Amino acid sequence: MTVELTGLTKRYGATTALDSVDLTVESGEVHALLGHNGAGKSTLIKCLGGSVRPTSGTIALDGRPLENLTPRSAIDAGISVIYQHLGLIDGLTVSENLFLGNELTAGLFVRSRSQRIVAAESLARIGADIDPDIPVGALSSGGRQMVAIAKAIQRDAKLLILDEPTAALSPVEAAALGRLVLQLRAEGLAILYVTHLLNEVMTLADRVTVLRNGRAVWAAHMAGTAKGD
Ligand code: ADP
Ligand code: ADP
Repeated sequence: MTVELTGLTKRYGATTALDSVDLTVESGEVHALLGHNGAGKSTLIKCLGGSVRPTSGTIALDGRPLENLTPRSAIDAGISVIYQHLGLIDGLTVSENLFLGNELTAGLFVRSRSQRIVAAESLARIGADIDPDIPVGALSSGGRQMVAIAKAIQRDAKLLILDEPTAALSPVEAAALGRLVLQLRAEGLAILYVTHLLNEVMTLADRVTVLRNGRAVWAAHMAGTAKGD
């Protein structure tokens, strides 16, 4: 899948948060998005996630423009945004969190027993050794990040958007997350990775875009990343 932003612009009153941004993310690619505070990173990923409506410009999947994205239609289109707050509910189990929200999708109802099996499979797919029956509140930051990613994968995400995913992680957890990102890339996901850490850009990114005051001021392909070219 190719996700293409063309001329994406978002104004909040007099503030231009995004100013005609062009950006492409392809399957099997990690695209790193950099920029100082206020550069427009959050606004860009919220546009992709359907929670902010662009003022103008288009978001297209495989050449097909997505009109009037909502959080629900973004998920249905295969776009999963993992915000820093992750959106998990501490008092519910891992399994319950993995299915939370799915009752809204057409006709999907999974009984709790099979739900646990699907949850265990989703966690296994990303190599997360997490008990589906424990409350999310009992997990470390790294464990919570893994559950959020498992949820995106379970929803059949084609574009995974990670917003500074290692910000709250220990070095060991961050390394595990990096390995997972490379695994998902190898499986063909398109990944948009917001970071300001140079080591993550150097080890993970195939492409980099730098936002500044809402404009994409610099974009480049990275040579010789772990993709092995
Ligand atoms: P970043 O994520 O790179 O820090 P943001 O996308 O959050 O940048 O913000 C880009 C600009 O848009 C900033 O000037 C910010 O103050 C402004 N902005 C973001 N969200 C809103 C909003 N809901 N209302 C008004 N201005 C906003
Ligand atoms: P981030 O670092 O993720 O951009 P912020 O703390 O800048 O987070 O913003 C938190 C929330 O406030 C975001 O939803 C953003 O859209 C909103 N926001 C940012 N700037 C403004 C602003 N000037 N007016 C209103 N809302 C804003």
